[in-house]
Amino acid sequence: KPIKEIILAVEGLTVSFNGFKAVDDFSMYIDEGQIYVIIGPNGAGKTTVLDLICGKTRLTSGSIKFDGKELSRMKENKIVHAGVGRKFQNPSIYENLTVFENLELSYPKARTATGALFFKRTEEIVRAVENVAQEIFLDEFLHIQADLLSHGQKQWLEIGMLLIQNPRLLMLDEPVAGMSVTERQKTAQLLRRIAGGRSVLVIEHDMQFVEDIADHVTVMHQGKVLSEGSISKVKNDPRVIDVYLGH
Ligand code: ADP
Repeated sequence: KPIKEIILAVEGLTVSFNGFKAVDDFSMYIDEGQIYVIIGPNGAGKTTVLDLICGKTRLTSGSIKFDGKELSRMKENKIVHAGVGRKFQNPSIYENLTVFENLELSYPKARTATGALFFKRTEEIVRAVENVAQEIFLDEFLHIQADLLSHGQKQWLEIGMLLIQNPRLLMLDEPVAGMSVTERQKTAQLLRRIAGGRSVLVIEHDMQFVEDIADHVTVMHQGKVLSEGSISKVKNDPRVIDVYLGH
C-alpha cells in the first residue's frame, strides 16, 4: 500500500464561548481517501469542530491545515474554493426545481464571478450532472421535482450538489439520520465510492453505520479526544464505555 498523504491536519484546536471550552486542544489527521468518523455524546464538540473547519466559527487557538493551506483565517467561500464541502443535517435543496436543475445550479461553472447565473446549458454541465446523478442513485429521477423525493433521496441530492463542486474533503453531519435500512446501506456504498478519490469526515451516532464505513474513529468527550483508532478498538475502550453508560 502506498503511503497516504495527510489532506487535513488539525492541531491544538481550541474554541471558547464565554470562557467555556467547547473544543479543547483537539487534534486530528485525515488521510487522502480516508473515511474519518467522529462520535461522542451530545455536547462533546463534534459539530463545533466541523464549524471551525468550514469557517462558520472562528478558533481561539490552534491550526487547521488543508492541503498545506491554513484555513483558520480564510473566509467561508474561500474554504469551499479550496476544496472543502460541508453538508448540514437539514438539506438545503431547491424543492421546486428538478434534480437536474439542483445539480446544474451547484456546478461551479454555471455561476459567473458575481454569483449570478448565466443560463447556458453546456454539454460539459449536462455530462457532469448525469455522472453525479448516477453516483447518488438518482439517474432515473433527473427530471423529477425535488420535493417529490424521499427524505433519503433529498439527502443524496444534497451530497450530489457538493460532489459536483469536486471537493477534496466532504464533511457530513449525521448523513443517515431518518433514513431507511436500504437507504443507509446505499449511503455507505456511496461514501465508500466517494472516498476512492477524496476524503470524508462524518459525525455519526448510528454505530452500525459507523462500523460499515469508518477507516478511523475518534471519540470526542468534553471537547477533547477520549479515544481513537479502529471501531473495534474504541468500542472496547473502558473510557468510551464509561462515557456512553454515563458512569
Ligand atoms: P456535539 O455536536 O458534539 O453535540 P456541539 O459542538 O454542538 O456538540 O457543542 C459543544 C458545546 O459547545 C455544547 O455545550 C454547546 O452548547 C456549546 N456551543 C456550541 N456552539 C456554541 C455557541 N455558538 N455559543 C455558545 N456555546 C456553544
